[in-house]
Amino acid sequence: MDIAENIKNIKTEINQIAERCGRNPKEIILVAVSKTKPVSLIEQALENGVSIIGENKVQEATEKIPLLKGKYKEFHFIGHLQTNKIKKLLQLHPDLIHSVDKIKTAKKIDDLLKDSSRKQNILIEVNTSGEESKFGIKPNEVKAFCKELKNFNNIKVTGLMTVGKLTDNQDEIRECFKTLKNLYDELKSECSDFKYLSMGMSGDFKIAIEEGSNMVRIGSAIFGKRVYK
Ligand SMILES: *Cc1c(COP(=O)(O)O)cnc(C)c1O
Repeated sequence: MDIAENIKNIKTEINQIAERCGRNPKEIILVAVSKTKPVSLIEQALENGVSIIGENKVQEATEKIPLLKGKYKEFHFIGHLQTNKIKKLLQLHPDLIHSVDKIKTAKKIDDLLKDSSRKQNILIEVNTSGEESKFGIKPNEVKAFCKELKNFNNIKVTGLMTVGKLTDNQDEIRECFKTLKNLYDELKSECSDFKYLSMGMSGDFKIAIEEGSNMVRIGSAIFGKRVYK
């Protein structure tokens, strides 16, 4: 497996799809999802065109991210966030947290940053597929949720995130992304800090870009299949 080659191919594909849709390829941000992968492999990616890395476990990130400081431009947290792990995560200074789906989580982040000038950029995770296994709030709850988050001075909501439905049915996956894009457009005027629409992974980023994604989270297509012990 050649990471440099994988990255080059992904970027070419992103550019091609964007151009086909009449979009500027430069507006599409690539987050390389490095979960389960060793620091040495992540360094390879960072030397070959990746600048943003995404991790989904606080413990794992705590072990890896400090070793990569200065080598990445941004570190994003994309996984489910337990309240008791938030403090540890904030110590890693994530540039963006993709996965806030509870007021309790937002409040904890806000409380922990109260005495600092830091403002944490977050995305609201939305469950667009209706699958019970998925995290995220219901689409019809996003508006009120967004409004409530305005009370937190140390949090800035910069957009929405979703994970597409786990199915081979492309139409059903596309529906998820359409739902998120519609919500994004609907709330953009009220939530002035909106700029990211985080949707699309290795298997479905083409559909996501066609539906308006400007942030794709790609793991296995860059780093190879993951092996869970
Ligand atoms: C693992 C993960 C990804 C990347 O998945 P791939 O299919 O390997 O590209 C993207 N987003 C989230 C939230 C993930 O947990």
